[in-house]
Order: sequence, then C-alpha cells, then structure tokens
Amino acid sequence: MSDTANWIFDFDSTFVRVEALDELAEIALAGRADRDTLLGAIREITNLGMEGRLAIDESLRRRMSLLAIQPDMLPKLVQRLVDNLTPSFARGMGQLRSMRERVWIVSGGFHEWIDPVAEAVGLRRDRVIANRLRARADGLLEIDPAASPCAIDAGKAHAIRAAGVPRPRVMVGDGITDWQVREHGACERFVCLTEVVRREPVAARADVVAANLDEVLAAASDLRAPDQG
Ligand SMILES: [Mg+2]
Repeated sequence: MSDTANWIFDFDSTFVRVEALDELAEIALAGRADRDTLLGAIREITNLGMEGRLAIDESLRRRMSLLAIQPDMLPKLVQRLVDNLTPSFARGMGQLRSMRERVWIVSGGFHEWIDPVAEAVGLRRDRVIANRLRARADGLLEIDPAASPCAIDAGKAHAIRAAGVPRPRVMVGDGITDWQVREHGACERFVCLTEVVRREPVAARADVVAANLDEVLAAASDLRAPDQG
C-alpha cells in the first residue's frame, strides 16, 4: 500500500454496493401501484449513464424527475447505505480510517446523504465532493444546479481539481464518469473496481482492474509524492 497516494473513491457501486438513487427510489415509491415500472425505468437510466450512453447530467435529471423526494426520506436512505457498504470496504474500514487524511469521496450523488455516511463510518465529511439538493417551494427536494459541480460532463475531474486534492491521486470507481477523471488529467491512476459490478467499457480503459479494496490499495504501491520524484 502506498503511504503517499491520495485516494479518491466513487460512492455508488464502489464505496457502497448499491446505487443510492435506486435505494431512494425504493423508499420514495413504496406503496405506489406503478412502483415496479418506475423502478425499472430508473435502473435503466442509471445503467445508460454508467455505460456512457447517456450524458450524466441528463441521467441525473431524468431520475430525479421520476421521484418526489421529501426531506424525511433521507435518514432512512443514510441507514440503508451504512448497512450496504461494499463488503471489502466494510472489512477494510479500519484501514481507511487510519488513512482518513488521504481519503476523499467524489460522487454524482448528493452531500445530503453521502456526508452522513462518511461521518458514520469515521471518515471526513469535509472531504466529500458531490452535488447538493435544495428545497422547492412545495417542500420537495430537487438538484441545486449552482452547487452541483459533479452533475455536468467531466464534472468529477473539474471538482477534484477545484478541491485541491494533492498528487499523487488515485481514482477508484466502477463507472465511465470515474474513468473520465483520468481522461481529463485529474488523477495519476485509475482503478476500476469490479466487486459490485463489472462494466466492460470502464475495465477496458482502466490502468488497473481490482476485485476488492485490498487489490485497490495494492495498485498504488509504486506511487510517490511529487517531491520524492
Ligand atoms: Mg459508481
């Protein structure tokens, strides 16, 4: 394991073994007659986005539009996410905590649930880079475009740079937006994690393909801080 690398983890299907918006959809649609149809539609949109066949902002906007998100759904969602950490992350959380000064989470999801999850597992909530929700006049939550840097094309790369994550930076994720961080030069290495889902277009582009957190952490053992050459 590198003791200098700065680790940037994707959240959905990387840090947790689910997609948070899918979980939120299940909570939001519970009891509705058209629940299964809507859930299927949302999962299809998620996959199109992750495979790079739909722009990420459009994927997010379409999924949000299918849901009516109320503030009281969020604590339920946070608990589900804490209960669904990706297995090797659940086992390795002590190790991640010991390197918490060098651990970041970047996501096209939202601070409103990722910050509390980071805090619950002992990581720094001020190292979460994500989008934000805002309340509409009717009390429902919607994306706040002015505070959502990861909701645009290549947004994760720009947001990582804006956050000033130091080099060397290792991006770890399952989706095409994670690989785009490497494509746009905002990390020195991209590790495709296949523990939750293996997306071939992403694995094919990765510097390293890893099956679990141990393999992820081994993937940067040769990286050195810039001043060490
Ligand atoms: Mg993901």
